[in-house]
Amino acid sequence: MHSILFLLTLWSPEVERDLIAKVGEKCFTTIECTTAECGKFKERAVFSEKSACPHCKGKLRVQVAQARNVPVSTFTEIYAREVMQAAIDKYYKGTLFVERGVQCDELSLTGGSGADLAIVKRQGQATLNAEDIVVVMEVKMSLVWNWKLGEDKPSSDFYQHNGRPSLSRTDSLLKAIGKGAIFRSTEKSRRIPYLVIGNCPPPEGYYAKLDGAVRSGLVQKFISLTPKPVLSGPPMRNPKETSGGGFLRIDSMDELATFLKSVIDGKGVYLGRMVDRKELGEKLKALDSNGPSEEVADRFIEALLK
Ligand SMILES: [Zn+2]
Repeated sequence: MHSILFLLTLWSPEVERDLIAKVGEKCFTTIECTTAECGKFKERAVFSEKSACPHCKGKLRVQVAQARNVPVSTFTEIYAREVMQAAIDKYYKGTLFVERGVQCDELSLTGGSGADLAIVKRQGQATLNAEDIVVVMEVKMSLVWNWKLGEDKPSSDFYQHNGRPSLSRTDSLLKAIGKGAIFRSTEKSRRIPYLVIGNCPPPEGYYAKLDGAVRSGLVQKFISLTPKPVLSGPPMRNPKETSGGGFLRIDSMDELATFLKSVIDGKGVYLGRMVDRKELGEKLKALDSNGPSEEVADRFIEALLK
């Protein structure tokens, strides 16, 4: 898996076909008619597209393709690392690095809950201090399209097949937000952006929740690395962004480089907590408001956290 030579492009049917070729048969599930007297329908595909047998309308049996989960997520993490590194090399070549499985005690990124990816200042360290970590990323990418065994073009997109890939899965979104909440509960995460990386858009019913997770500062952005996730249908199925700005579709490597630059150079700080209003007012009144605005903000945060 480590010798994969990626075409350094955003996610596309060509990249996904490459994944399937490397992972092999394990990607495919068997879908077959269960009616004893029919038995006319059987196919090997990544996902099922039908809810019933096309011949007898009977039930279909779909074998769950568990064996593909680990190799697919390994492939997508390696892919995402390469693409992110290529994008940040445009502005930070030789100074910032994208690494997989980053561990940091101070940020609760330990054991199996390490950061899938992180942009870091020091390369090749087993564990890092919070000061070495610039951006933390959670990768929620998967097979987006349906493929039939032996065919070299996708047969359907995620609106047409029965699978729920990447950001279209609400359980994946909840897990990513939960991981962000644990990360944000550490004091040292205050200035470190947290991104969720996917390869398809979220469900429409989840737009407001993602916008809320971003507005509250738990997550800085949900992004998709797939410019064209849908094969047909109305453009609303492929949103550029959500109205609250929580989700963004990346359309080119240049756009990714510019986006990551804005995240890396951002001067944001996370302030989430419940504060007693009287105490807050008193701290504001006592605040020394002289000097540059950033310094005033730092003094206020320091007073708030005391
Ligand atoms: Zn049948």
